[in-house]
Amino acid sequence: MSVSNRIIDTAVVGAGFAGLSAAAYLARAGCNVDVFEKNADVGGRARQLVTKCGYTFDMGPSWYWMPDVFEKFFNDFGYKPSDFYELKLLDPEYVIIFGKDDVLEIPASTRELLKLFESIEKGSAEALTLFLKEAEYKYRTGMNSLVYKPGLSLREFADASLIKGLFRLQVFTSLSAHVRKFFKDRRLRALMEFPALFLGAMPQDTPALYSLMNYAGLELGTWYPVGGFGKVVDALKQVAEQQGAKFYTEEAVNAFRIKDGKVRNLYSEYHSKSFDGVIAAADYHHVDQHLLTPEYRNYSERYWARRVMAPSALIFYLGVTKKIQKLKHHNLFFDEELQQHAREIYKVPQWPSKPLFYVCCTSKTDDSVAPPGHENLFILMPLAVGVHDDEETRERYFKVIMDRLEDYCGETIRDHLDYEKSYCVSDFKNDYNSFGGNAYGLANTLRQTAIFKPSIANRKVKNLFYAGHLTVPGPGVPPAIISGRVAADQLLQHLGVI
Ligand SMILES: Cc1cc2nc3c(=O)[nH]c(=O)nc-3n(C[C@H](O)[C@H](O)[C@H](O)COP(=O)(O)OP(=O)(O)OC[C@H]3O[C@@H](n4cnc5c(N)ncnc54)[C@H](O)[C@@H]3O)c2cc1C
Repeated sequence: MSVSNRIIDTAVVGAGFAGLSAAAYLARAGCNVDVFEKNADVGGRARQLVTKCGYTFDMGPSWYWMPDVFEKFFNDFGYKPSDFYELKLLDPEYVIIFGKDDVLEIPASTRELLKLFESIEKGSAEALTLFLKEAEYKYRTGMNSLVYKPGLSLREFADASLIKGLFRLQVFTSLSAHVRKFFKDRRLRALMEFPALFLGAMPQDTPALYSLMNYAGLELGTWYPVGGFGKVVDALKQVAEQQGAKFYTEEAVNAFRIKDGKVRNLYSEYHSKSFDGVIAAADYHHVDQHLLTPEYRNYSERYWARRVMAPSALIFYLGVTKKIQKLKHHNLFFDEELQQHAREIYKVPQWPSKPLFYVCCTSKTDDSVAPPGHENLFILMPLAVGVHDDEETRERYFKVIMDRLEDYCGETIRDHLDYEKSYCVSDFKNDYNSFGGNAYGLANTLRQTAIFKPSIANRKVKNLFYAGHLTVPGPGVPPAIISGRVAADQLLQHLGVI
């Protein structure tokens, strides 16, 4: 399509979920779309690692929450998720391990969940019902009225029903205080606070608005796309390509030429091409500080240094030549104190003294991701951004984690590995140009929500917009998909296409 019969050429920098989504919407509107991705594969943090010995690891995301966001994306192009991949509802959704014999299995059914709560703390089933009702209101309001807004001005939020409902959204109460009002038991509190970790902040610093994540997890279900998140990446790419987007992989963008307040040219490793508009869906800080010259940056290094980043991670991808009976699909090891680890991520950034960690074993649900009789393990330990990582430190933590994992499972695992790879801060920096090696972008604290996030629009370069987990609406795969849509709409409006 064109405006006044003029062909509109657009570029997308970075092919993670945000870039894929932006490309699909720009192409749907009739623009020519070129997507430049520095890595060999698209998907960004959600790439897959396929080994010669038969394992397929999702390198990043493993929790498929908010299925409605994925549905909405595919519906916009005349599809459903099931046209591309099969979803399985996990039951139990996940387990939380507080000790060897102290394990909470979170059932998929609300009725079973209520029973579980009541068995732990009298009266807590009723409290949970009320908690989830409030959380549902926040989720629906958030999804219908908040997350698709560009966050450029407070006026966007001046809708009468939103203002009336502001009190119910609990923007100014902390999630921690909110949870404490409803539940006394330490394990129930940990269960309700754990989604805050997804949002990359301490529950004390996360607005209670985000109990909407409890609703997303506990009521809308924890799903698994068979074949892994890579199937979801492939699906978005397929949709974008069907709309006409073209992909250039192993082709990092290095600079822009800007004239009269507009990007005119984009310089990648192999191309120098002119464009009418650009969506930068690579890490915002990288684009702002490394692809733009100082006069065109939205922010200073000082601004970035003062952001609260979501954590980085130490990850191990392990192939195990036997089955491990005790593990479920998602296993959260909360057998050490959460506060201590959280402090060592956010307040006094350092390698943790007694880390919590998470083990994902997709081969429990999916035969295609490991050879027969084997398990596919993804182990993740949240870690402060910017810490120095080296082989020796990774090995030290591998021992700490494996000692606890083997003790819980009651069997050896280390003697049965036929694949082992670690991934940490320096890999995030090298592979994704990630600021400080962050895994999940910017923490969702109150001061970094909506209009307080790095702006989706470049204020000095009128045809340059940002997408991805460092701008609105925030970290996670569903928000990244939404972000691509919002940025595409902004650029299309600027270009006069919509
Ligand atoms: C370990 C881990 C676990 C996670 N778990 C979950 C989960 O369970 N559920 C969930 O919903 N979310 C999860 N997330 C978060 C989620 O994966 C991210 O929020 C989301 O994928 C971010 O998408 P994005 O498009 O913003 O960024 P990215 O995926 O990082 O995409 C940006 C792309 O830009 C490319 N790029 C960078 N610089 C350039 C350049 N100069 N030129 C061209 N290309 C460039 C990068 O290579 C990358 O492909 C997890 C993340 C990690 C790391």
